[in-house]
Amino acid sequence: MRRYRYRCTVCRTTSPVVHQLDDLAAEGEAHRLALHGGHIPDDEAVGQIDRLGRWYASLGPLIALHARIADGLSDLRDTKTMGHYWWASAGATLILGGAAALVLTAVSAAL
Ligand SMILES: [Zn+2]
Repeated sequence: MRRYRYRCTVCRTTSPVVHQLDDLAAEGEAHRLALHGGHIPDDEAVGQIDRLGRWYASLGPLIALHARIADGLSDLRDTKTMGHYWWASAGATLILGGAAALVLTAVSAAL
């Protein structure tokens, strides 16, 4: 399940989490109309977030991959809550570590 937020850097407010892009657009439009007369605030931010509320775009590639795996594992148990279950974070770490070990083994076998 995907999660999105709208952030207005002028008002320093962030919208509640929404799950559809249409709802995200409606959040931004409602904020702009209500507080900025329809104008678009400078540096407003919209985008997908992980279950910890972090913007995927602001994460490094490895951390973003870990977050996506942990999000997917956590969504297996409950799609409505935020936060990662400890076993989902551990599972994501094990998956990434296993993939790195597999690549190292394949590279060392090829040399
Ligand atoms: Zn604003």
